[in-house]
Amino acid sequence: APRKLAAGNWKMNGTLGSMDQIDALAEGHGGAACDILICPPAQLILPAVQHGKGIIKIGGQDCHAESAGAHTGDISAAQLMDAGATHVIVGHSERRADHGESDADVAAKAAAAHAAGLIAIICVGETEAQRDAGETLEVIATQLAGSIPAGASAGNTVIAYEPVWAIGTGRTPTNDQIAEVHALMRDKLQGQVDGAADVSLLYGGSVKPANAAEIFALANVDGALVGGASLKASDFGAIITAL
Ligand code: 13P
Repeated sequence: APRKLAAGNWKMNGTLGSMDQIDALAEGHGGAACDILICPPAQLILPAVQHGKGIIKIGGQDCHAESAGAHTGDISAAQLMDAGATHVIVGHSERRADHGESDADVAAKAAAAHAAGLIAIICVGETEAQRDAGETLEVIATQLAGSIPAGASAGNTVIAYEPVWAIGTGRTPTNDQIAEVHALMRDKLQGQVDGAADVSLLYGGSVKPANAAEIFALANVDGALVGGASLKASDFGAIITAL
């Protein structure tokens, strides 16, 4: 069965003072049945690993496709690994939109993550215009086909479905809409990923303590990728407990 994963993406939020939230998570969730991951901004990875005490796993929010070199402002998967990260998010819609990352770019980053020994959390999701046009399943299938590198397996890859219009908006798809996309993803992974039935599939987009339990009850939903509600240990803790 897929591993359950509660993942927090802090995005461009947090300072050293935020380490008290990692402390609180580590103190409160030592016996959790799921994996717990926080992806802070890069400058906090090293302290977050220390404060997480192995109870809270720490990941990056992006990595470069190359392992080293002249790429000012970028960070490599090997550097994330060196700092103690276990995971890296690739292809988040904010990276795709703000930095023009294509499916091929995302696949190259995921391949770099795998080569460094990190678990790649590969993000996909439709825009509101695409959903309104009835293109959601086609968009997700295309993104999956293009964003997952050769060599992906249940051990090194997590897929996150994040509808762009649900991120930071307080709006979520219906339960049926989430389940429909997750079923499609499970199906499409067959033949593309080794151990497709065991790949953890996360939902992301306005997950809160109030809606987490019903989302986690849906078929093929193995956890969540949480933005705003991961910034406070009290909110994220309630989501962890719901999983
Ligand atoms: P919110 O939970 O703030 O909607 O963000 C979701 C997200 O983008 C996580 O990667």
